[in-house]
Amino acid sequence: MKKYSEIRSQLLERRSELEVRLGCIKKDISKPLDHDFAEQAVELENGEVLDALGSGAETEILKINSALIRMDEGRYGDCVACGISIPAERLEVRPFSSRCVNCAEKEEAH
Ligand SMILES: [Zn+2]
Repeated sequence: MKKYSEIRSQLLERRSELEVRLGCIKKDISKPLDHDFAEQAVELENGEVLDALGSGAETEILKINSALIRMDEGRYGDCVACGISIPAERLEVRPFSSRCVNCAEKEEAH
């Protein structure tokens, strides 16, 4: 799998970035809320935003993990739906793509 070694290190780098970010987000959320009510409302709002950011990062980590697994199994770069090879240009833009453009569009249309 030499041809994917660059993408692999990219994915690993991205994943550790996300994990660091998630670590920070979780710390922020567990911070005790201020007793002042107005302050509290603002902090709650921020907490919701952080939650949304956190789940985005978690989803991305899951996608990266499954891309790495497919790489280990030698299936990386093949569309999981129809089996054709995903064009290298697409993998460059979205290294954790598991579907070709056609299948991804079909999936989104659902
Ligand atoms: Zn496909």
